[in-house]
Amino acid sequence: MSHETISSVEYGKSITERRAAEDLRSIAHVKRFLELMTGDSKFREKIKANPSSANHVAKKRGIDIDLSKFSGKFQLNGSMAEKGSDFQEYPLAVLWKDWIKDWLTFVKLIREDGYSHTADPRFNGWRKRQVERVNIEFGTSRADSITHPIFSFELSKGCSVGCWFCALGAESFKGHYERTPKNVLLWRNILSTAVNLFGSAAQASACYWATEPFDNPNYLDFIQDYCEIVGLVPQTTSAAPTRDLVWTRRLMEMHKLYPSVPSRFSIVNSRILRDLHANFSPEELLCYELIMQLKGSSYGKARAGKTLKKVKSENTTHKGLHVDEGSSSIACLSGYIVNMMDGTIQLVSPSLANERWPLGYRIHASGTFTNAQDFGDFIERSISEHMPAGLPPDQAVAYRDGLVYQPRENGFLLSSDFAAHSFTGFGFVSQLGEMIAQANYQPTQIIGDLVDDGSDIFGVRGTLEDLFNKGFLEDLPI
Ligand code: SF4
Repeated sequence: MSHETISSVEYGKSITERRAAEDLRSIAHVKRFLELMTGDSKFREKIKANPSSANHVAKKRGIDIDLSKFSGKFQLNGSMAEKGSDFQEYPLAVLWKDWIKDWLTFVKLIREDGYSHTADPRFNGWRKRQVERVNIEFGTSRADSITHPIFSFELSKGCSVGCWFCALGAESFKGHYERTPKNVLLWRNILSTAVNLFGSAAQASACYWATEPFDNPNYLDFIQDYCEIVGLVPQTTSAAPTRDLVWTRRLMEMHKLYPSVPSRFSIVNSRILRDLHANFSPEELLCYELIMQLKGSSYGKARAGKTLKKVKSENTTHKGLHVDEGSSSIACLSGYIVNMMDGTIQLVSPSLANERWPLGYRIHASGTFTNAQDFGDFIERSISEHMPAGLPPDQAVAYRDGLVYQPRENGFLLSSDFAAHSFTGFGFVSQLGEMIAQANYQPTQIIGDLVDDGSDIFGVRGTLEDLFNKGFLEDLPI
């Protein structure tokens, strides 16, 4: 297959290519320093207790930069106030800030790369609505980090790591998709079908979900197939990066050889962090994000899946064991979870975890497949049945779950935990808002009633479509 690499991946490659070797080295060492500050409580406490000894403490862990060029806190004589707090005076902080800015741009671009002009426009419209809904539901600061890939292919069933906090509620490991000739043929045909249906957007996908990639001993062979058919090495997130270093080095080698979406490692205990740092230099891990999930990390856990109902214990001071207060999600997909072992496929989109969607994602449709034809048929059927080009004419119009409606003078207000949206303008807005709030009227009834009252048909229809496209209206059966 001929492949045009998605623009985000080209941009990702340029992030390192545009920088001088010395700057990359400095960034790699800043990154390692921050990893230890986040993930290693003893290291963090030592630095906090005596910031002016930071260089000395960090050097013992192989960090070879002058941290006083990163923050005034680490001046030898603690003279930040005298030196001033002008950001430009800390060249390592400037390098780091620009590095992060570039990766945030990458995230934005890969989200856009999930739209392809060869995909069904109804799929693109549906995905756009999910992106808009997630912006409102999660708040833009969290939503900005969600890339909405269009496929997650699982190559095993369950997960052997068994994290108590698994926000995707992974079940225990049941086995892996074996690399038999028949399975390889099916896998390759599934990937070809995905590319035929979605074109370059299929590159914005991954080969794991509630699974540990390492649990499939042939994961990297399947990734090699993926690379040949889809056109790049997809992102891998592994919580077992030190289980077999040959495996990890092979993954890293593939990232060097082919266009790639950078991989990540989840750090679920201090041994993994220590071993990973001992076996890979800061430079080798430069483009691998480490997600600090371990005890002692300064990050809390998302409230979804296994932690949804976890009672917050009083006086919990253990960093890294703390579950965030509000419900959350780590789901990022607006597309299809495909399990190759049991031949299941689900159309999903991110949601804050709740009683209905405890795993932090909405399930719009589910099916099974035994061959690539079934797989493609399910996708086409899911588009026809669940992705209307406009507001469905035969369904009562209602606000999306989680939005609070309040009438206002000349209009109405819709609010979520993170934002409030005010709707005013045309004379019909108040009545329109009220009719939607009743969740009882189909679009034609709303348009008919408002036009009978003297409103402009195009204005009413346009406002309804706008509310739909911006993710304010429910697109699941109510
Ligand atoms: S968080 Fe990841 S590694 Fe841990 S149980 Fe869930 S899927 Fe497995």
